Amino acid sequence: MNNFHINTKCLHSGYTPKNGEPRVLPITQSTTFKYDSSEAMGDLFDLKASGYFYTRLQNPTNDAVAAKIADLEGGVAAVLTSSGQAASFYSVFNICGAGDHIISSSAIYGGTFNLFSVTMKKLGIDFTFIHPDASQEEINAAFKENTKAVFAESLSNPSLIVLDIEKFAKAAHSHGVPLIIDNTFPTPVNCRPIEFGADIVLHSTTKYMDGHGTSVGGVVVDSGNFDWTQNDKFQGLTTPDESYHGITYTDTFGKGAYITKMVVQLMRDLGSIPSPHNSFLLNIGLETLFLRIQRHCENSLAVAKYLEGHDKVSWIDHPGLESSKYHDLSKKYGATCGVISFGVKGSRETAVKFMDALKLVSIATHVADCRTCLLHPASTTHRQLSDEQLRNAGVTPDLIRFSVGIEHTDDIIADIDQALAQI
Ligand SMILES: *Cc1c(COP(=O)(O)O)cnc(C)c1O
Repeated sequence: MNNFHINTKCLHSGYTPKNGEPRVLPITQSTTFKYDSSEAMGDLFDLKASGYFYTRLQNPTNDAVAAKIADLEGGVAAVLTSSGQAASFYSVFNICGAGDHIISSSAIYGGTFNLFSVTMKKLGIDFTFIHPDASQEEINAAFKENTKAVFAESLSNPSLIVLDIEKFAKAAHSHGVPLIIDNTFPTPVNCRPIEFGADIVLHSTTKYMDGHGTSVGGVVVDSGNFDWTQNDKFQGLTTPDESYHGITYTDTFGKGAYITKMVVQLMRDLGSIPSPHNSFLLNIGLETLFLRIQRHCENSLAVAKYLEGHDKVSWIDHPGLESSKYHDLSKKYGATCGVISFGVKGSRETAVKFMDALKLVSIATHVADCRTCLLHPASTTHRQLSDEQLRNAGVTPDLIRFSVGIEHTDDIIADIDQALAQI
């Protein structure tokens, strides 16, 4: 589908019905698949033949949606996961193990920070966190002999810091490791990190991709560009896997090596697959992704401009505003979305009073939904972080994460206006 525009791909990639087949991607709600002979089934288990046999590994609905997202990001292959958290874990764990080291941006989603700094640490994987604004020298200084990847968000949740993707890609590649990007906030409609040198891209599809707040999910996309054989850091991909009779992923699967290994090892052993029904819903969301993202961005810019001029607002950040420190980087990479962060003048209680006074806008542990919603990260998603960790994540105690939906702009602004009048 490579010649189509991205809005056409949103509708048509991943599934092309043949004569007489359903026009809409069908839900294959079956755990298992039938074969005529044991030998045919055995070949699938040995990875000698490809085909469906058990939905924990592969399912036609899941695969079609994964292929659509791979195409939207400009990658060669993808795998859907049951959550964004699983996608973050798999993206890293697929190429590292106990004794390895990963460099991560400090401005990442609170759940990812916890996964890296607590849970994966227990598995013996060591992380160094660096600020996304770090200079090339500072990034280079963070590398160790056992570093296996660099991880960052293209547009950070909730601090809205735009990553200089090319700078991080250069640093990663000069040390022979891939750059892994969480592209949840901009989505491939606005930003395609692979075009700027990222090797692996992942998403919490729970956010804009699903868009309607129906299904938790994630996806990992491989660009196919990283040469895993250039050094001996990635032996899980470049040496024989005894659990599959000595298959070597890079030899047998070429550009599909990373995603194949993720499916046949991590999905086999850990099993974070989405239900085909959730993938069906995700696909419906993807069909309108382009239209929704356009409206989210228009609306959020209008709301940001309104807030910028309001005397009860102490500060505001949105990469689309010219006053944003990240405006130029945002224009270069397309890293923007419908999320705004801001603070109201006064105490923490003032912020709570403002939030409680909203009528149309709802308080929800969610972001990037078609309905406008907001959240106070310091007391919710980021509450486990110390003050210093909060600062490094770009989250001030008064930060309100405001996720602008696709309602009429005037209605959203009127609701904010009446709530601000009450504080
Ligand atoms: C929400 C989110 C995640 C985690 O995804 P879940 O689907 O909630 O597991 C990861 N990264 C970013 C940027 C997110 O916003």
